[in-house]
Amino acid sequence: MKIPAAKIYFPEEERKDLLKQVDEILESGQLTLGKYTREFEERFAAYVGTKYAVAVNSGTSALEIPLRALDVKGHSVIVPTNTFFATPASVVHAGGEVIFSDVTENLCIDPESVKENIKKDTKGVIVVHIGGVVPPQIKEIQEICEDHNLFLIEDAAHAHGSTLDGKMAGGFGEAAAFSFYPTKVMTSGEGGMITTDDKKIYERALVFRDQGKAGFFGNVHTEMGYNWRLSEIHAAVGLSQFARLEAFIADRRKIAKIYDEELNERGGGGVTPIKIPPEVKSNYYKYVVMLDEGIEIERAELKRELKEKYEVGLSGEVYELPCHLQPIFKDLYGFTEGVFPVAEDVCKRQVCLPVFATMTEEQAKYVVDSLKEALC
Ligand SMILES: *Cc1c(COP(=O)(O)O)cnc(C)c1O
Repeated sequence: MKIPAAKIYFPEEERKDLLKQVDEILESGQLTLGKYTREFEERFAAYVGTKYAVAVNSGTSALEIPLRALDVKGHSVIVPTNTFFATPASVVHAGGEVIFSDVTENLCIDPESVKENIKKDTKGVIVVHIGGVVPPQIKEIQEICEDHNLFLIEDAAHAHGSTLDGKMAGGFGEAAAFSFYPTKVMTSGEGGMITTDDKKIYERALVFRDQGKAGFFGNVHTEMGYNWRLSEIHAAVGLSQFARLEAFIADRRKIAKIYDEELNERGGGGVTPIKIPPEVKSNYYKYVVMLDEGIEIERAELKRELKEKYEVGLSGEVYELPCHLQPIFKDLYGFTEGVFPVAEDVCKRQVCLPVFATMTEEQAKYVVDSLKEALC
């Protein structure tokens, strides 16, 4: 049985509808910032439960724009080191300085580390919902932010439809950033979305997105904006996937449940899934397991063996290497190994099992059987 690490799913019906919509868009001549973009924004905001949403061309710009709107230039922002490059990079691009923080065993930022790292010039904190988990510790971080007058931004690139205490990812801070990159739970080809309840952030985000222009039809530039627009074709693709989002998540949760049963109840055989408390409902962008202590096989070798011997593709880690040890940040800030011990450990020991919407129960069981065989 051949199992890919991930699989993008556009049902045939939807592909046909999309072709019609693309045709309509081309004929209308309105190729950017039109009715599809507006509808995508309205539906997404209603789904997340925020007052506003702004569609942009990537998850990375969905991070940078609120950072600019919150004036981080010349200030520092606390970011977990266990995240994708785009999280700290967006702070640098917005003119801020990154303060990396360690994480806890659930791979998300450690509130203690946040507290220790607040400096005089610190303006905010970014929490990343790693693998689709809105971490319960975000409540503690909200309090820290209130006490120290800091903003909170969610990097929700992994967390479309994930909840904590029944509340959707994207509504916990001043603003949130979603990504629609092809590997994410839903895609628009390329694209991103900012969600916020803050009218000022919303209004400035609209201006930043379109070259800092005060209005679509004017030629007066009031902000240091950029071309961060989403095209109408991408918005149509995004809307099509968005209509399927709840079904995609339900399918992923079914697979995760099989993994839970196979690994927790019948013994992990050398791996332990990270614990997700009952108040968290993950969208299972990733199903993360930790290699147990004493497991001799290296991750790279395990991946190779699963691929070659069993035709099972493991999904990309979140993350293979923490950001402070990535050459660009290591050199920029002079980090050495050992400064963020938990992040370094969880990055080394994690493995992500394949999860995709069209995966079958049989495939999921085959993944677990292959993994257990490869480990013994
Ligand atoms: C994918 C991702 C981004 C960036 O999104 P793009 O759409 O690729 O620009 C940002 N943060 C995290 C955590 C991501 O996984």
